[in-house]
Parts: sequence; C-alpha cells; structure tokens
Amino acid sequence: MPTISLSPHFTLQELTATKRKLQNKPDANAVERLRLLCQHVLEPLRELYGEAIQVNSGYRSPAVNAAVGGAPTSQHLRGEAADITTGKLEGNRRLLGIALEHARELGFDQLIAEKSNTYGYPRWLHISYSDRKRRQQFIVT
Ligand SMILES: [Zn+2]
Repeated sequence: MPTISLSPHFTLQELTATKRKLQNKPDANAVERLRLLCQHVLEPLRELYGEAIQVNSGYRSPAVNAAVGGAPTSQHLRGEAADITTGKLEGNRRLLGIALEHARELGFDQLIAEKSNTYGYPRWLHISYSDRKRRQQFIVT
C-alpha cells in the first residue's frame, strides 16, 4: 500500500498500525475522521511541541479494540482518537501542558493523561477529535 498522508507529519499507516495479527482497515468515514484528528489536533500539537510524536494506537477495528481491552464505545473505533507519546515521560508531561494550554485552539473532544506517575508524568496521552469538541480533560493514574 502506498504511503497516504493525513497531514504533513502523520500517515494513514501510522494511524492504523497494530501489532495484532488482525484486520484493521478503516472505512472511508473513519479515514476522514482520522484526517480531521491529524489536521486539527496531532499536527498542531507536534508543531507546538517541536519534535516528533509517536502514535501508539489510532484507529481500531472492533477485533483490535476487543483484543486490547478497549471500551466498546471507544472513539478509536470511529477513527476519532489516538494514543500518543513523545517516547519520554518528561516529554509527555510537557505535551500534556501544551495540550491543556492550547485546549481552545486545538478543540479536542477528550484528553486523557494515562497512567500518570506520582509526579504527574503520563505514560501516554489519549486525545480525540470530533464535532462535539467537549474539551474534556481527565487524569488516569
Ligand atoms: Zn486511547
């Protein structure tokens, strides 16, 4: 499959990658939602952070979502969410701060700091984009 760009620094391949040997092909609507997620949230976040951001999990087919224990209503199923990391706890803490500071412009739907340690450094961030733009924020430890 040729590389398909969703935004300057993010590709469809990254947003649909899975380590599981399971089908994980989004339909056209999910691809469009992934594109909106990249253009409105991930790309601006990367720009503000100033370094590469890795996507651990983006779109999930029902089979992949079930395999990783995702919620049945997970926004990953719709192509609206991504779990992202800078690869460093300090970087993730900085990225969280940037996301909170720029919540208004980014217009994310949900932002979850996942598995934060006692100093508030998350292992990864779950961030979603949809037309609801709730800008909800949660810290999960
Ligand atoms: Zn997630």
